[in-house]
Amino acid sequence: MKITEYIEQADKCLFSFEILPPLKGQSIQHLMEGISPLMEFNPPFVDVTYHREEFIYKKHPNGLLEKVSTKKRPGTVGICAAIMHRFHVEAVPHLLCGGFTREETENALIDLNFIGVQNVLALRGDAPKTESKFTPEDNGHHYSKDLVKQIVDMNHGKYLHEETEVGFHTNFCVGVAGYPEKHFEAPNMKFDLKHLKAKVDAGAEYIVTQMFFDNKKFFDFVDKVRELGITVPIIPGLKPITTLSQLTNLPRTFFLDLPDDLLDELEKCKSNQDVKEVGIEWSIHQSKELIERGTPCLHYYTMSKADATYRIAKALF
Ligand code: FAD
Repeated sequence: MKITEYIEQADKCLFSFEILPPLKGQSIQHLMEGISPLMEFNPPFVDVTYHREEFIYKKHPNGLLEKVSTKKRPGTVGICAAIMHRFHVEAVPHLLCGGFTREETENALIDLNFIGVQNVLALRGDAPKTESKFTPEDNGHHYSKDLVKQIVDMNHGKYLHEETEVGFHTNFCVGVAGYPEKHFEAPNMKFDLKHLKAKVDAGAEYIVTQMFFDNKKFFDFVDKVRELGITVPIIPGLKPITTLSQLTNLPRTFFLDLPDDLLDELEKCKSNQDVKEVGIEWSIHQSKELIERGTPCLHYYTMSKADATYRIAKALF
């Protein structure tokens, strides 16, 4: 079923979460056992992130350079299939522009359709760590709006090559990303929102936001999005802070601010355990306010460590 249908039919705020595929070489078992307790809260869907292939050059004794793949977290599609099979929930794979030609995207969508995936989150992805700016593949998409369009075209039976015989139409519900604190490359919020609107106009049916710790930023974002005439559901993304290192890593990686009140509490913490307690309490407080304001679904970034999310969900759902 489509995420939008779950939202339409729900009589209360829904709970959902995002996981990362395990590092290459690790089994899926640990991940599945880790998320199993979260099924108590009846998530209609679980997002599975996608991690693009990065390359390094290895120097051989003869001086020749060999291009070596360093894809750290393969398995997004396989995990989606495993989750749907084991837990009977929708799995939402993240699909990137980066690293894919249009042909590869088309083929990936056919695979996803065959395993029963009905929802996808369309994203641009970031530049590889070794490059300073995002560059699409030859014949790949530059912006996620174009990826949305390709998915919607397939839903209408329009494949890349006219000669493709269309036996069936896919029926993907497409989500896109939104940024309550602005995407880091956008020169200002107005610019970013204009391009968010373009994604919805291209056919995106819901928005999931980047994590944020200050609800006011989310409420302001929602107001601005609605002023532009965007009516699709907006699902806030939340993450409990659980380690001291995240105080610097999260703002640096995700271009967000920590509110004063939260930072004051975190700065008193002596250990990761103290931080985790503060982080969980903050997330519960954020979630309660979002639920009171009629948010249709809360989406938690577990980073595949489900225990903090479990405690938050236990207090709320
Ligand atoms: P876009 O919507 O394409 O926008 C990118 C930038 O370009 C923005 O600044 C936008 O304002 C600007 N822009 C858009 N269109 C135009 C245009 N026509 N002309 C000029 N500028 C334009 N990354 C991963 O690698 N894997 C994941 O699984 C993943 N999951 C994510 C899940 C969520 C909920 C979020 C919020 C992010 C996720 N990301 C993931 C990170 C994401 O890939 C990056 O934030 C990326 O930099 C932008 O992706 P986007 O889809 O928002 O890009």
